[in-house]
This record gives sequence, structure tokens and C-alpha cells, in this order.
Amino acid sequence: MESANDNEQGAVDQRDVNAQLVLSILREQELADRLCEQLAFTRAITGSLGEGVYALDSSERITFVNPAAERLLGWTQAELLGKSEQAVIAFRRADDAVAGAPSGDHDLVCIRKDGTTFPVARTAAPIVIGGAQTGTVIAFRDLTEVRALERAREEYVALISHDLRNPLTVIQGRVQLLLLHLQRQQLDRASESAQTILTSSKRMDSMLTDLLEQMRLESGATDLRTEPTDLTWLLARIVAQFAADEESGQIHLDDAPPLTAPLDPARIERVMLNLLSNARKYSSADNPIVVHVDRDGNAAVVSVTDQGMGIAPADLPHLFEKYYRTEQVTVIKGMGLGLYSSRLIVEAHRGRIWAESVVGAGSTFRFSLPLRA
Ligand code: ADP
Repeated sequence: MESANDNEQGAVDQRDVNAQLVLSILREQELADRLCEQLAFTRAITGSLGEGVYALDSSERITFVNPAAERLLGWTQAELLGKSEQAVIAFRRADDAVAGAPSGDHDLVCIRKDGTTFPVARTAAPIVIGGAQTGTVIAFRDLTEVRALERAREEYVALISHDLRNPLTVIQGRVQLLLLHLQRQQLDRASESAQTILTSSKRMDSMLTDLLEQMRLESGATDLRTEPTDLTWLLARIVAQFAADEESGQIHLDDAPPLTAPLDPARIERVMLNLLSNARKYSSADNPIVVHVDRDGNAAVVSVTDQGMGIAPADLPHLFEKYYRTEQVTVIKGMGLGLYSSRLIVEAHRGRIWAESVVGAGSTFRFSLPLRA
């Protein structure tokens, strides 16, 4: 026979079970609420993206599509969900991709439902649960506008390289002739004016070259014309030419043995002209500039040292950034592009460029170039 105690115990156990049941229902409800919240959050994020996003399960069937993917592909979510990716979404290399070049995502186009294509950038990330890949998320971006901007930029580069520089070359040639003529006739004041025109047009030419160089190198089109070159000989030529142009005898090139490196002579000349003209610009005309070249392991290291105004330690890490100019030089003309494009050129040669300086005492700019390709 059951005692009153047993009955009481049974009722207590039943209450415990009920309480646990209620707790687990509440926990499940809470988890379901959190899941709904998470889904709404994910939907809001992917829904507001300009990028197309879709997800695949482990058998490459489409399990998720955001509105941008529907818009970009021309398929509706209903048409895509559950379908095999291969049956509906196709990426292929662009027809105008360079034949034989290694295929990369750079030349990808995506095919829409109606068969038309658009240039695309694509990334894929695995969905990993408990250490196993259960699917993949693919994000893709329409590059039509980017490509149009790239074309506009190329046209801009062409404008700078031809339409603006050609008349400048004519001006320089004519002024040089005029200068000779005036000097022969000993017309000093007129010669001085012609010299100023020549110097200004050369400066403008140099700025255009920097702009052009920067745009080309930034677009990844390094088009370096490397050839084995005796760097010591090249530096001697550049220094002599610079000294003649600037009518500055205060430039000294330290003796050095021949050092042959694979380099693009025109590009390295550009770097040297930037460093030399800065050394001249940011120091007084009678301060000497010393150019030095030496071997350091498998690299050649070139340095340009001036005894000019110097650069504050806080500015040193930023000098090679685009448009960076120190506060001390605002009265001296410049665009802040010379060191930036010099860095791009040196890095395209797999070298490095850096500066050391003491305020009020002068600066040394160095760059290294590998001696072997
Ligand atoms: P720009 O000379 O046209 O301003 P650069 O990119 O050649 O542009 O140089 C960036 C900045 O670095 C200069 O504006 C100047 O502040 C500083 N700088 C470069 N070279 C020197 C130098 N030799 N001495 C002092 N400051 C320099």
C-alpha cells in the first residue's frame, strides 16, 4: 500500500518534471527567437548590400540568394533556390582577356539569365560547422562602372602624355633656340627671361611625368623596360645632366666601381631627378649635394645627401605617401607626388626607398635595387 509520504514524494517529482519541461520549452523558445533575430539580421545585411551574395550546400545547390544577386543575375530567388549552381550561374574568362596569360579573377565575367555578361569580381568563403565544410558563400560585384572609370583614366593618361606634353616639348625646344640666340647677342635681361620660361616649362614637364608615372604604376601597368645597366655609369650621366641644367656645380658623385643591375634606366633617372631636385629645392643653392652608390649584399644602394632644412622625425614615415608634404615647405612649390612615384618605381624594381634626416642639418634619401633579376 502506498503511504501518504510516497504520494507526497510523487507529487514533488511530478512538479520537478513539469518545471524542467517549462524551462526547456522556454529555452527552446529563446533559441528560436534568437535564431529568428539572427536570420532577420543576416537578411537585413545581405539585403542592403550592393554585392550579390548566394550560398551553396555541400552538393553545390543554392540555399540562399540576396536581392542584389537576383538583380545582377536576372534570375528570381524562386528560380534559383534548390538548383545546382552549375545549371544557373556561370562565370567565365572575358573574351578580351590576354591569350596565354595566367587566368585570374581579374578577367572574369558573369553570364546573366538572358545570356548577356558583365565584368565581375568574385570571392568565395567556406561555411564551416564543427570543423567540417557544410557549404560555401559566394559574393560577387559588378565591375561595369569600375571598368568605365579605368577606361576614363587611360584616356586621361593619354591626354597628359600626348596632348599636354607635346606642346610643352615644342615650347622647350624653341626657348632653347631663343636662349642661344639672345645669349649670342648678349641680351642679358631677355636671356634671363628665356631661361625662366625654360626652367618653368621643364618643371611642368616633370610634374606631368610624375602624374603620368603615378597613374600608370597605380593601375598595375608597370611596363618596366629592364635591361642590364651599369648603375654607376647611369648615375654619372644623370648627375652631370642635372648639374648642367640647374647650373649647379655643387653636386658631387662619389667614386664607385661599375655595378650592373637589371633596371629600367628611364625610370631610375626619374627617381634620381626627383631626389636631386628635392635636395636642391629644400636646401640653399650653395649647399653641396652628394650622390653615393655602393653594393650591399645582393643589392645596390644609392644615396642622395643634402645639407638642407632637414625633416622632422614625425614626418619621416609619411614622406612616400601620395600628396604628403611637410608643414615647413608650404611656401616652396610642389605636389607631394615625386617621392610617392619614386617609391612606386623602386618597388616595381623590387627595391626599397627610405630617408634619414636631422632637422636643420640635412637629409639622406636612399634606395636599394636588387643586382639580380
Ligand atoms: P614635393 O617636393 O613636390 O612637395 P615630394 O613627394 O618630392 O613632393 O616630397 C614630399 C615632401 O617631402 C616635400 O614636400 C618635403 O616636405 C619633403 N622633402 C622631400 N625631400 C626633401 C629634402 N631633401 N629635404 C627636406 N624635405 C624634403
